[in-house]
Amino acid sequence: MKRWNILYRGPLSSCNYGCEYCPFAKTRNTREELKDDETRLLRFVDWVAHQTDREIGILMTPWGEALIHRYYRDAIRQLSHLPHVYRVAIQTNLSAPVDFLRDCDLDTAALWTTYHPTQVRFEKFLSRCQDLDDIGARYSVGVVALKEAEDDIKKLHAALNPNTYLWLNAYKRDPRYYEESDLKTFAAIDPHFRTNTTYHDSLGKACRAGHESFTIDGEGNARRCHFVDEPPLGNIYRDGNQFPGKLQPQACPNQTCGCHIGYVHLKTMGMDKVYGDGILERIPAE
Ligand code: SF4
Ligand code: SF4
Repeated sequence: MKRWNILYRGPLSSCNYGCEYCPFAKTRNTREELKDDETRLLRFVDWVAHQTDREIGILMTPWGEALIHRYYRDAIRQLSHLPHVYRVAIQTNLSAPVDFLRDCDLDTAALWTTYHPTQVRFEKFLSRCQDLDDIGARYSVGVVALKEAEDDIKKLHAALNPNTYLWLNAYKRDPRYYEESDLKTFAAIDPHFRTNTTYHDSLGKACRAGHESFTIDGEGNARRCHFVDEPPLGNIYRDGNQFPGKLQPQACPNQTCGCHIGYVHLKTMGMDKVYGDGILERIPAE
């Protein structure tokens, strides 16, 4: 069965945290906006439920924090029980309750969690990770590798379950930010850290994005990835049976690709072998 890896991002844009390095504009969503976001999410879930001739993986990549809203937890629970969905994951700051996972298919549901040291007490974040271990949930933990966060990162690395993968995102706004000694320190914690420190040449290179992987917005518009600014490839609701034909192998039109959720699909990088079925929630296969 052919596989699609889908990144879903609805209109929700609010977050209960206010990280200084956050690339997303902070907004507050009104009750009506949240209701609209819920309606769109439910429509997407219903569409996924009907794509039974595909094996589907989903990563929800909201602009803000979505898991604090019950309807996202319900959607993950529902999607996890669909036989043709091999993975449903969401990026989260882990501030929401995680008990809902007890009712999910734990082979399918997963969390991409991020620890934000300026926004939450270390003990509280760690205790949530321990809750996930008690439940037997699949999750990765990540931190933005700021130099001032080095002590927090080391502390977290030492405290986490040794089976939990701790990924580090490089701070790339200043190309000279890291000394070699910083790179060594962070690479000793996350063996894949150096891969994340560069913008990878991608122009003209074959990428699964737009063919085997694509993004869906709240209106059902499909784009190849979050990083190429071009008209949608199609619309999953309007195009019906014609939609799969809109997805064709294509080369990347951007000079570089610097974000994990993008470059893992660049064929030249071989990241599908590194991550296997954990590619969406960022858990290496080994
Ligand atoms: S938790 Fe995530 S979405 Fe919220 S402010 Fe921090 S980086 Fe932004
Ligand atoms: S290499 Fe990155 S920017 Fe280019 S198409 Fe793939 S995911 Fe998108």
